[in-house]
Amino acid sequence: MTINKALRRLPSVEKVLNASEARSLIEKYGRSLSLDAIRHAIEETRQGILSGALGTPVDGLESEILKKAAARLELIHSARLKKVINCSGVIIHTNLGRSILAEEAAEAAHSAALSNTNLEYSLDEGARGDRDNIVEDLITKVTGAEAATVVNNNAAAVLLALNTLSDAKETIVSRGELIEIGGSFRLPEIMSKSGCILREVGTTNRTHMADYENAVGENTGLILHAHTSNYRIVGFTSNPSLTELSAFARSKNLPLMVDLGSGTLIDLAFFCLPHEPTVQETLAQGADIVTISGDKLLGGPQAGIITGKKDIIQRIKANHLKRALRLDKITLAALEATLRIYLNPEEAVRKIPSLRYLSREISEIQAVAEDVRKVLQNHFGEKANVSVMDDISRAGSGSLPEIDIPSVSVAVNRKDMSPDETAAWFRKLNPPVIGRIENGLFRLDMRCVDDASVIGQSLPSS
Ligand SMILES: *Cc1c(COP(=O)(O)O)cnc(C)c1O
Repeated sequence: MTINKALRRLPSVEKVLNASEARSLIEKYGRSLSLDAIRHAIEETRQGILSGALGTPVDGLESEILKKAAARLELIHSARLKKVINCSGVIIHTNLGRSILAEEAAEAAHSAALSNTNLEYSLDEGARGDRDNIVEDLITKVTGAEAATVVNNNAAAVLLALNTLSDAKETIVSRGELIEIGGSFRLPEIMSKSGCILREVGTTNRTHMADYENAVGENTGLILHAHTSNYRIVGFTSNPSLTELSAFARSKNLPLMVDLGSGTLIDLAFFCLPHEPTVQETLAQGADIVTISGDKLLGGPQAGIITGKKDIIQRIKANHLKRALRLDKITLAALEATLRIYLNPEEAVRKIPSLRYLSREISEIQAVAEDVRKVLQNHFGEKANVSVMDDISRAGSGSLPEIDIPSVSVAVNRKDMSPDETAAWFRKLNPPVIGRIENGLFRLDMRCVDDASVIGQSLPSS
């Protein structure tokens, strides 16, 4: 049969639409989308015949077209935001959505989503309330701050605080602290968007009190200290302590803001990890305003938390920009539940996944790794060597920069695939399993895997 004859056998859209399978597609996906998918499938088949890829088929064109249309519709309707299993070795991985919520926080978000809430409504007075009231007293309790407010993320917190305190004025910041965080948070750019003028002082490795002294002038609005979240300057370095900086700011009648970034509420030294400045101690050392993320070490939903002096927080709340950066009820519900857990810090370590994974006993990780090794070796049989190996996890998201946290991984060396192909194979699982390749070896870090069934459930059943 010639190509022309085969083309003439292509069914019309109307003919395909009359098939009973088409009717069930329309019922499931709606007429317009189904019609579109059928047209697309007919065109694809036409191109296949023209290019010779399909040969010159005689029968079954119609059901072939319907199959293609159904597959397309299913793809269009499939979830884009998918659950994935984090075996990357980075606990709080920005690209994988940072922190997993505690059970209570997830439940609170779920319940808030499905009902009306007293978001901005005082149940005592039967009148309009303030959505900040939902979390402010909890934040002040767990941080010791006088007052607090919350926004969309820490980038928004920094933007809003800078705009409130230093619009059209100079903000003094040490050159060594002009950070860039992944996802294009760059301090100089945020400062410029906030309307303040960046006044860099000192050098990359050394900034002295005198540098700050010399920079203060008529138009100074703020002194800013930023936590160098994702790098460390080591060697011949010097920076004034926060206490010195705050005494200086006070003497000049200037506010001191600290962008702490990850902002832990619990001293990580309790978990035998290096000390990270806590929000409590940063405020106690004299910061007037401290900004942190909700979804880094805090382990809650994406949010920006601004804590500090009452009068400054009042001004921040009154800034109209805040209206554009405010939190929705679902996030607020999750944040509130997370903060309530922190009322009892021992509970926080058990219930908040980011803290639990960060502080996990190596023997427990080892045990999971042994189980996963068996599951995977069993699955691959002769096709792969699966082994348990010592590895290194990282906290991620600008927490504990460059700190190695001992961990255990399961290495998968497939004989029929390269490491890249193996990584891609694991990414295609349902749910996808995200590992990493290092030194030419594909490995799955077990620190954030609760037990072997998590991996077992992802594997295809054959
Ligand atoms: C992470 C980080 C930010 C940005 O916070 P987001 O919550 O990601 O918006 C800002 N400053 C510092 C120091 C950070 O570590």
